[in-house]
This record gives sequence, structure tokens and C-alpha cells, in this order.
Amino acid sequence: MEVLNELPLIDAHCHRVAGGPVTATEFELCLTEADRPAPGVSYLDTPLGVAVRRWCGPALGLPAGVSAADYLTRRTELGGEATRLLLSAAGLSDLLVDTGIGGDELLTPAELGAAASARVAEVVRLESIAERLATSDVSAEDFAEAYPVALRSATTDAVAVKSIVAYRHGLDIEPDRPTAEDVAAAAHTWLSSAPDRLTDPVLLRFVLWCGLDTGLPLQVHTGFGDRDLRLTRANPALLQPFLTAAEPLGNPIILLHCYPYHREAGWLAAVFPHVYADIGLTLSHIGARATAVLAEFCELAPFGKLLFATDAYRLPELYLVGAAQFRHALGALLAAWQAEGAMTADTARRCATMIGADNARRIYRLS
Ligand SMILES: [Zn+2]
Repeated sequence: MEVLNELPLIDAHCHRVAGGPVTATEFELCLTEADRPAPGVSYLDTPLGVAVRRWCGPALGLPAGVSAADYLTRRTELGGEATRLLLSAAGLSDLLVDTGIGGDELLTPAELGAAASARVAEVVRLESIAERLATSDVSAEDFAEAYPVALRSATTDAVAVKSIVAYRHGLDIEPDRPTAEDVAAAAHTWLSSAPDRLTDPVLLRFVLWCGLDTGLPLQVHTGFGDRDLRLTRANPALLQPFLTAAEPLGNPIILLHCYPYHREAGWLAAVFPHVYADIGLTLSHIGARATAVLAEFCELAPFGKLLFATDAYRLPELYLVGAAQFRHALGALLAAWQAEGAMTADTARRCATMIGADNARRIYRLS
């Protein structure tokens, strides 16, 4: 679809990538949510692995569907230039980068933006700010006051905050803002136990509400991810009481990823004015099924509520695969709907620009 091929996309949820070469083993493990090899099985023989060879070969001057071995050889020959070629082939205008994971081995947000020829804005992880604060000498009594101050300074230039409460507890949280006494008691327990990962449900709720107090949009991880999460507790429908409690504050709340609960997310986006659904990660991992699952995302959610993203992390290939799969899948879906008379060409073009860029520009107040 022409409008999609020409449209610079806003990647509304993504991460930093490695700028240099990666080993074949690292490459394979970056293409799966598994954290360890499976005997006798290659993670390149997956819908995502096949999609990488389909979309990324041509960006490096190789045929689509090139063998994984030839692809990796070419990638190594090109060195850092491969990163630039893959990122610029994705055709992105803006990257909203969650800086909460990865270390110094990854490109900085500025380097990432330069390699992609895109503007970069930051998304700040609520739990990371609490964990950083816990390593200072903050007392349990001061935690409730110190956290919003730390968050405000971390979000000066941010366009959104993000929660990984699905990983740390589950989305079945108590909905309301915790009391000051409950926060102080929970902070006392956490800070006196060599604090590392924030898993206390009271403090997780506290940082969520502090996130809303910034006035910024709130991104929430929902649905699949690595095995660190309990999938059944990552169903966004579990978040309904919190969505209801947060509605009066007016922050947009973006449900990230969603799969396999993308139909639940579509309903939530349909009935809550402040709730949106992100299609990133899902559209990459499901490979050639992207058109079918994107059609399911589009069953109930208003087109003004769906957001393109790649959720790319570590491998620049994931930016290109996410963008190419999105353009291909949405193009195929809208073409099919036009062919059967379900919508006009004009409406199809409007839907494409909404999901690919305009919704993100409006929700995240990008200039
Ligand atoms: Zn992510």
C-alpha cells in the first residue's frame, strides 16, 4: 500500500541496540523470548527467524530468504554499517525509547537516533527509578517523598513513563493509591532487606500512581514476554479496576504488546476513553501470521486507539522486521477490506496514517 510504504513511522515503544557484531549464538537468543537453548532446535526456525531472513537480507544487499549462515557472514563483514543500514531501512521518524534495560554495550539513545536518522524521545521505567533510589541512603520514612522528586527529575525530557508490574507482581493489583502509612511500612520492609528488584505490591502500586501524577502517558507491559512473567497474570483485562480508578486523572494508558490477550486489549481500548493498545513485539514474533492477528487487534478497538511499535531490543534487525511486518500486514488487511467494499481507499489511507504515526503523535504530544 503506497501510503504505508512512504509513511515515516513513529515507533512508540522500543529499546537500544548493540552497535557492533554479535555471535551466532547471541543472534539466535535475541530472536526468542526463551532465555536458554532448546536441544536440537534452532530459534532461527521460527516465524520471527524466517521473517528476519525475509526482510533484512535485502537491506544488506542479499536476497530475501538468504540462509542464516550467509546473512550472519555479511553482517559481520559490514560491522557497524549493518546497524545503520538496517535501522535506516525501517523508515522511522521518531523512536520512543524505554531506557530501563541494557548496559553500556548498547548504543546510547542519541547514537541510536543518528543511526536511524530519527528523532529520539525517552520513556522512563517507574520501577528502575525506585530501584536506583533504593541504592541511595534514602530512609523508609523519606521514600514516599523522595520517589516523586526522583521521578520528576528523571522525566524532565521524557514523553511517557512505563510499568513492568506484570513482571514484578501481575496485573491483578489493588486498584487504588496506597495510603502513606502502607507505603512507609512497605518501604521499611523493602529497604531493610538488601533491596534489589521491586516486587512489593504496595510499592508497585505507589510508583504507578506517582507515574500518573507526572501527567505523562503510562505504558504498561501486558501479554507475553520472557518466562520471568506469569502469563495468566499478564492479561490486560486484570487491569480493569486500575484503569477505572485512574480514569479521572486523564493520562493516556497504553497496553503494550497484549498478545495473546489482544482481543481483551481491544475491548478495553474500545470502552475506556483513556486506554490504547500497542501492537509492537507481537507483530514481529508472529511472522507471517501478522496480517491475521492485526485483523484481530482491529476488531473492536477504534483505529484511533492502535499504535505501531517494534519493541526492538539489542538487534537492529528487530526494528526493520517490526516496521516491515507492520507495513506489509496492515497494507494487506486494508487492501482486502477495500476489495470487499468494507472501506474506501480514502478511509484505508486515513487508518494507515493514524496507526502508523498520527495516534502516537497525538497521545505522546510529539511536535
Ligand atoms: Zn519493551
